[in-house]
Amino acid sequence: MAAFDRISKSGAKFIESSSSIGVFKAGSCSHVAALGAARYTFYAKEHQVEVPRVELRCCMSIFKAIVVEKSDGRHKVALTDFDEAKLMGGDVTVRVEWSTVNYKDGLAITGKTPVIRRFPMIPGIDLAGTVESSSHPQWKRGDRVVLNGWGLGETHFGGYAEKARVKGNWLVGLPARNSLRGAMAIGTAGFTAMLAVMALEHQGITPQLGPVVVTGATGGVGSIAVALLSGLGFSVIASTGRPSEADYLKSLGARGIIERQELLGAVKSLGRERWAAGIDTVGSTTLANVLSMTRYGGTVAACGLVGGMDLPATVAPFILRGVSLIGIDSVMCPLNKRREAWKRLASDLDAGKLAAMTSEIDLPNVIEAGDRIVQGSVRGRIVVRVS
Ligand code: NDP
Repeated sequence: MAAFDRISKSGAKFIESSSSIGVFKAGSCSHVAALGAARYTFYAKEHQVEVPRVELRCCMSIFKAIVVEKSDGRHKVALTDFDEAKLMGGDVTVRVEWSTVNYKDGLAITGKTPVIRRFPMIPGIDLAGTVESSSHPQWKRGDRVVLNGWGLGETHFGGYAEKARVKGNWLVGLPARNSLRGAMAIGTAGFTAMLAVMALEHQGITPQLGPVVVTGATGGVGSIAVALLSGLGFSVIASTGRPSEADYLKSLGARGIIERQELLGAVKSLGRERWAAGIDTVGSTTLANVLSMTRYGGTVAACGLVGGMDLPATVAPFILRGVSLIGIDSVMCPLNKRREAWKRLASDLDAGKLAAMTSEIDLPNVIEAGDRIVQGSVRGRIVVRVS
């Protein structure tokens, strides 16, 4: 890169396969990209320097991206070289540094559920990076930003690419004390867990009212919900299909562990009152059982569907125990609530617990990680080093 910059500033000539194809002027890197050659030789004055394409990519309009395509009814996903000219509209271009893998990303990558609503698509519902250029009044080059939701990775090219062009109104600035990697360790999963905790608080749920159950506890949303709730003084009951992870859940602050199976039995209209509140990532029979076991006046925040989208419940918990069921949506969550949630995460989430639940992969490994998360075998959070 340094060699390339030096050469480009001197107005060097570049050739491909020994035949001269143009005169390079400083700053016109995209000319080179358009030629699409794998390797270029640069002549600067009397010096000849050969620069592999991979070193050129970062100053050119070609960058690495995971792309999902649908052709002949088949779902295809691959790591590709992507041309910046093909990015979608937006007033801010972000150099993406970190992303993450959420369950929804797994669905998009595998095609298990039709999460993507436009093809081809760069998936990735989260990104964190630095503003490269902006015509939006709020953002300038160099600003550190985070983006999740707003259709990213579903209808608008997402975070699994070294660059993203997005709407400035979607972005949230990252305080200097927070790292981009840390923001993606939290990601949509952590953001959603925070929204769920805020919803319980809004309903007047306090630690004095009794324990809170978290389902799908070893997953991304679940792990962060356990850590947040325990940090706030709640007694947390973690429901998991992986009892071997009991020590992990206790290290995050879970007071009690129950087996997933306990919430998969036949749903009673009203069960034994076991908890004051719940955060449910599973849906279906699990959510129906959580509701039926919630104490009088309690609240359940529902955000997930890993166990199914249906809800085989009765109205008994609502009309006989005054239980509330609150829906949590991270995608279209309004900006003021977003800012509040990110602020709360910065103050309420234990950094050590977050680090302990987070593993790291590089962009090419996202495809395999997408498979794993859909199979339910990912523990905690995965951050993706994008560039
Ligand atoms: P993860 O895969 O990280 O976590 C899901 C966890 O659920 C698993 O780790 C597992 O935990 C449990 N699980 C997996 N399969 C099943 C099953 N068949 N039945 C019961 N439990 C199961 O996913 P995320 O944490 O990223 O997301 C969780 C859910 O929340 C997803 O449905 C996702 O779409 C949803 N979500 C919704 C958002 C919103 O805006 N509403 C935003 C973010 C996520 P264990 O082994 O401990 O039981």
